[in-house]
Amino acid sequence: MKFSYIAILLLLFGGSAYTQTQWKGKFEQLGEELPTPNSYRTASGAPGSNYWQQRADYVINVELNDETQVLTGSETITYYNNAPEALKFLWLQLDQNIFADQSATNQTNTGSVKDSIPAAFFGTASGVTVSDYKGGHTIKSVKDAAGKNLPYIINNTMMRVDLPAPLKTGEKFSFTIDWSYVESNRQIFDGRGGYEFFPEDGNYVYTCAQWFPRMCVFDDYEGWQNKQFLGQGEFALTFGNYRVRITVPADHIVGATGTIQNPKDVLTKEQLERYQKAGKSYESTVLIVTEKEARQKEKTKSSKKATWEFAAENVRDFAFATSRKFIWDAQAVKIGDKTILAQSLYSKEGNPLWERESTKAIKNALEIYSDRTFEYPYPVAYSVHTAHQGMEYPMICFNGERPKKDGTYSKATLTGLVQVVVHEVGHNFFPMIVNSDERQWSWMDEGLNTFLEKETTRIRYPELFGTHGTPKGIVPFMRGDKSQMRPIMASSDNVRPGEFGPNAYTKPSAALTILRETVMGPELFDKAFKEYAQRWAFRHPGPADFFRTMEDASAVDLDWFWRGWFYTTDHVDVDMQQVKWFKLRSETLDPERKKLNVKRGDLEAESTAGKSNGTDFSNGPEEFSLMNTPEYLQGEFKSRVDDAAIRQKLEGKNVYQIKFKNLGGLVTPLVIEWTYKDGSKEIERIPAEIWRVNEEEVTKVFIKEKEVVNIVLDPNFELADVEMRNNVFPKRTMPSRFDQFKKNN
Ligand SMILES: [Zn+2]
Repeated sequence: MKFSYIAILLLLFGGSAYTQTQWKGKFEQLGEELPTPNSYRTASGAPGSNYWQQRADYVINVELNDETQVLTGSETITYYNNAPEALKFLWLQLDQNIFADQSATNQTNTGSVKDSIPAAFFGTASGVTVSDYKGGHTIKSVKDAAGKNLPYIINNTMMRVDLPAPLKTGEKFSFTIDWSYVESNRQIFDGRGGYEFFPEDGNYVYTCAQWFPRMCVFDDYEGWQNKQFLGQGEFALTFGNYRVRITVPADHIVGATGTIQNPKDVLTKEQLERYQKAGKSYESTVLIVTEKEARQKEKTKSSKKATWEFAAENVRDFAFATSRKFIWDAQAVKIGDKTILAQSLYSKEGNPLWERESTKAIKNALEIYSDRTFEYPYPVAYSVHTAHQGMEYPMICFNGERPKKDGTYSKATLTGLVQVVVHEVGHNFFPMIVNSDERQWSWMDEGLNTFLEKETTRIRYPELFGTHGTPKGIVPFMRGDKSQMRPIMASSDNVRPGEFGPNAYTKPSAALTILRETVMGPELFDKAFKEYAQRWAFRHPGPADFFRTMEDASAVDLDWFWRGWFYTTDHVDVDMQQVKWFKLRSETLDPERKKLNVKRGDLEAESTAGKSNGTDFSNGPEEFSLMNTPEYLQGEFKSRVDDAAIRQKLEGKNVYQIKFKNLGGLVTPLVIEWTYKDGSKEIERIPAEIWRVNEEEVTKVFIKEKEVVNIVLDPNFELADVEMRNNVFPKRTMPSRFDQFKKNN
């Protein structure tokens, strides 16, 4: 395009557009930050034509000793190498080793000695756990299919198994590991699994997680995932099929990843009938074990054993829960043309909250998440109760929130339960199916999941919906001290524990909410988000695959958004620094200014020396004139400019000029609420690209029919602007103490 006359005029009259101090490239494309597209992962954000991933199938026999809390297992892993390279060794994760004496976590925990604090807090404060508990996996043997020992070496929470010969592309290898460990007390060690002991009846609730040696991920962009398990960063796991036999005391009820294969062997006739009835009950839950029956079972301990067999296909992990204390309810949920059995397991300590809310929340989560991503593909979904927890595995999750001893509970407890069940069930979608590397990128599962958890609460529980995961909710964090704050894109274990919640969960959720509600609009956002979920279901996406797909499926350039919200700790704070009100001077009423013809050189001379006091509209509008377009400029136009027509358009209109200052650094769309003299309101939305030629300060003119009495920036708290005091005009000053004194006397 030719550099035009219009552009010259804009340069002359564009006001303060070129006063910025330093350009930071906030609207430049993300170049080096993203990996180069290739045949495994494309520039559109989809899996490429040569995309591959590994597979690991497991057959596991495990027995729990209810007296000693020891788990003893034997597993056969069949590992499929689909990578375009041969593997000389395999890496496994031994996550229980986080509880070993010399674990990297214990060695690197920091803290200090605090005087006179409750003994229970000593470990948290000092970083040293005082306990006789001996945790960690004991590896008894690693053997190939012929029973021959395989060499292995343990590096903290990782174990390398050397193969007899390189495993070539397309080949598989089976080997067997025998192991055991002592389950940890969750109330002391705050593990993701472990047991809860109930001294009143002498029984345990076991939630077993990271309990068996599991294959690390080997993929196209990282090779072997080799970040140690330190506790905060979660897991990177390979898909496969599981067949697991769990031996427990005969009076236990077991729930797990997968469907029970032998219900006739482990359920009583009555339980079996109720179990089958639940599978057809779409309207309400069916109690398979009642509270009365569970209370009865607490009183004795069976000396017999039972083996529950579960099967699961295409899952990245396997967890289970077992206890004689479990009450068990279930109901059928229709998703597409499939029926899912939603099930809850809880001790009497969870009632009456759990029998009312848990399974209902599973249903709500499955329905809303399926609508926004893909239909839930697994046959079951469990929610299991144990204190102070929220932890997810495929088809099963462990959730806290418990009423008081008298059975009453607050709205906060109810909200907490709904949120935790929806959230942990929601993790089936991210990361159990859209299988991102949690150890590296917490936001890819926690952030996306918190966003959909928030959406589920908003839609299904409006009475419980607050600011959790919303732009308004993230404001206190965004305005916090930036000196040690990490961006969302920081690696999981490098985020300071106190900031992990906002950083991994609520800040990405707030950012996605801004994308949906303000930047893209719900229709485009939902389409793009669904596209990402469907492209990467049962695959391993990375951040670039998400960033690229959201743009690819919407045609909205979002590089500025990822750059600001995900790669920096900047926040939104727009100062509506100055508002000026103008009206076109009426020519007939202006005896002094008859000079309607301007000459070359006069253009720059016209200033708009203001009468506005800069704080309110009390001085009335400032007048401005329009000269006739001079002859020497008319030649540039195809036809003559009708000066009178332009004046007529502006005659009597209210012209407002607003100077916006970007104090927080994060570029943002603007949402402006105009309140008119007649009391009516109007909301106007301006894309973030308004900042593209000046990232720090912009001035914009608005023409309004009606007279404005009030202007508010971000009236509905949708931008996460951290300072509302500079978002209002007329400027409201905080009354001084003297003013207050005068007013009151
Ligand atoms: Zn989570």
